[in-house]
Amino acid sequence: MLIKCDRILTENGFLDGYLKTEGFNIKEILAKEAVDEVPDVDYSNNIIIPGLIDIHLHGYRGRINPALGFDLPEFRLFLNDLACEGTTACLPSIEPESYHIIRDYRQHANEAVFLGCNLEAYFSCDQYKSYRNPYGLARELSLENVRRLLNDSNQTLRYVMIAPELPHAQSVIRFLKEQGVRVAIGHTTMSAQDFIAFQNTVQADSLTHWGNNMGKFHQRDVGVIGAGLLDDRLQAELITDFVHLSKEMVEVALRIKSIQRCILISDSVFLSGLPSQSVHFDENHSLTITSDNKILDQDGNIQGCYHTLFQNLIILVKSGLVTLQEAVIAASMNPAKFLKADHVMGSIKEGKYANFLVINHELELLKSYVYGNPVVRK
Ligand SMILES: [Zn+2]
Repeated sequence: MLIKCDRILTENGFLDGYLKTEGFNIKEILAKEAVDEVPDVDYSNNIIIPGLIDIHLHGYRGRINPALGFDLPEFRLFLNDLACEGTTACLPSIEPESYHIIRDYRQHANEAVFLGCNLEAYFSCDQYKSYRNPYGLARELSLENVRRLLNDSNQTLRYVMIAPELPHAQSVIRFLKEQGVRVAIGHTTMSAQDFIAFQNTVQADSLTHWGNNMGKFHQRDVGVIGAGLLDDRLQAELITDFVHLSKEMVEVALRIKSIQRCILISDSVFLSGLPSQSVHFDENHSLTITSDNKILDQDGNIQGCYHTLFQNLIILVKSGLVTLQEAVIAASMNPAKFLKADHVMGSIKEGKYANFLVINHELELLKSYVYGNPVVRK
């Protein structure tokens, strides 16, 4: 298929030209002057950017309610919804009770590429253990437990969050890294000094939704928030809805970490994208979507982000803190490199999958393409 567009975001910046796709892949990127054929599709006066890769999300628009579980048709509708909203590949955090549903999933057309599972908020410190799970079940961090999770997930578990103060954290992180699993630090109240010593012993890879559920950022103990920001070995996941982090806090992260070491995420949950409402789990636990698009529990704590990754990206770009190109890299190339998938995705380049988005100059999403085909909503 030959696609014309006057602003195609390639690894070398914006190009006025053509994309030629063949099968699942981008076959050629051609300058305007090199082509005299009539294109199959003409996206002149629009912008083509790489498809976004969300490494931290839980659900979307009523799908993947952790209290109810889900079946395969629901999972596939979830992946279709994501693709329609600009997330062309994802690593959702899925409760281990549902691993039997996803462990044999096979990729289908019209669905975001399933890159495997994240496991977030599962191995949390006491203070944050009930944050996502309303019943506050403690999950024991042990080699035996993570081996079982890897096995149960059919090795699709690729990213695990761990509170570093938990017993066995060091030995489990070493084991996971040997297995090629990425490790995030999160849901922790560790002090800065302890965390610096920890990182010098066994290195984690990233910071889960940096700034949130990370203890305090104090002038005499900057905690994991500050120490993690200064540690160049760590990527920082950022939720740029300006609900989880103020604009100033996002700027702090961008200035110290630089956009190259930030990965934009959605952290969307099953209530994201739905109209305002309250959901009651039992007499003591509920979640509410407020009229200003916050998802809060009965105590007023934030319980996930209302937006998609594309929406968070646009909020960040409109804030003026970064350019469109920088924000797109932080939501495509950075997560692709993090998952060692940048040989097939993360940018618009010959040989990579033809996963891309068409947006207009008002930064509205017009169309998503996955594996060379426009995504159709089911
Ligand atoms: Zn999360």
